[in-house]
Amino acid sequence: MPSILIIGAGLSGATLAERYASAGAKVLVLDKRSHLAGNCFDHLDQETGIRVSNYGAHLFHTNSQEVWDYVKQFATWRPYQHQVLVKVGEKLLNLPINLNSVNQFFELSLPDAEAMKKFLAKKRHKLAKIQSSQDYVLSMVGSELYEAIFANYSQKQWALDPSELDASVIKRNPIRYNRDNRYFTDRYQALPEGGFEGLVTKMLKHPNIKLQLETDFFAWKATADLSKFDQIFYTGAIDQYFDYAYGHLEYRSLDFHFERHNQEFYQATGAVNYPSLDYPFTRIIEYKHFYPPTKSVSSTVISKEYPTWDGEPYYPVPRQRNHDLLQKYQREAKKLENQGIYFVGRLGTYRYINMDQAIAEALRLFAKLTKKASEI
Ligand SMILES: Cc1cc2nc3c(=O)[nH]c(=O)nc-3n(C[C@H](O)[C@H](O)[C@H](O)COP(=O)(O)OP(=O)(O)OC[C@H]3O[C@@H](n4cnc5c(N)ncnc54)[C@H](O)[C@@H]3O)c2cc1C
Repeated sequence: MPSILIIGAGLSGATLAERYASAGAKVLVLDKRSHLAGNCFDHLDQETGIRVSNYGAHLFHTNSQEVWDYVKQFATWRPYQHQVLVKVGEKLLNLPINLNSVNQFFELSLPDAEAMKKFLAKKRHKLAKIQSSQDYVLSMVGSELYEAIFANYSQKQWALDPSELDASVIKRNPIRYNRDNRYFTDRYQALPEGGFEGLVTKMLKHPNIKLQLETDFFAWKATADLSKFDQIFYTGAIDQYFDYAYGHLEYRSLDFHFERHNQEFYQATGAVNYPSLDYPFTRIIEYKHFYPPTKSVSSTVISKEYPTWDGEPYYPVPRQRNHDLLQKYQREAKKLENQGIYFVGRLGTYRYINMDQAIAEALRLFAKLTKKASEI
């Protein structure tokens, strides 16, 4: 029976653990935290019965039939279509920018996509090359919307000017020429009953899987015999694995300030963004929009998000310095593959990936390695 070690009980680690265990391997999963599910972890707020995410709202969405078929095995899913508003002055505009938000912002009544395109064509900056987030937004919607929605938000979120940020950051939020107010347009959008905590608990519930929480890999390995594992999957931070030999990769973090309010709802949608510098936070999340509370309550729970450089490593900072450093770490990581050590997931690959990507990549890696093993 092959023996597998997995560092990290987030979705990447849990998917690999479940796949290997189901294929008959013996799997040990370590996590330094006191809970499983990684950053997707959530819990029921005792007082209100509202499900609250510990590390920021997590909303599942995917176009992948493979991922959807896979996750369906471990939970009953309730449909949830996310909507986001952005507060600009006294107005609340729909995000991503669409026909409704352009009409509201410019106080127009453009009837359709064609009219919106014609209108924005006059606003757009004609740039020869699109490199930064700033270039991208200016070339799509022009200065007014850029200033109102993106410039200060980026400054607060990343502590960088959007001219320093890769265009890829903003491209996650493309402009729409219709009135679709949903934040995501993926085919499958849903939340697991019992939360992501319940989902990952079920994934790891297998007689071949041993889960060891509150165990930091680096402290643990000092006395462990790693040679007894046939394969090791590491989902922690890639630079930490190499003891920061080339320097630290930058991460942006968030400080979550949770508040209970004695009112039915605090805001109209699950998320409202606050780009203005008048507010020190970037977003307010209201959890009651995601799951109905388990108790009948007239109160609600929100969290305000304050970006910071300290704390949990959440967002890789996509700028040149980090790309260069990452390449050096990736070269080292690649050399370890012939010893059966693989770097996986958000921290292991230093990329912002959604939950469905984390699962898809873990499924793909499992398929690739087991196919290779069966060919030997
Ligand atoms: C604020 C925020 C909001 C998000 N919202 C969404 C969303 O709405 N929809 C979506 O699809 N995705 C969202 N994501 C992305 C989502 O969190 C990731 O796709 C997912 O968590 C990736 O899973 P992972 O297993 O790769 O990483 P993680 O969940 O980070 O898991 C890694 C695990 O490794 C453990 N670990 C690290 N180092 C060690 C060590 N030395 N020893 C032992 N254990 C270790 C950590 O404790 C952690 O549990 C969001 C991310 C953030 C930061």
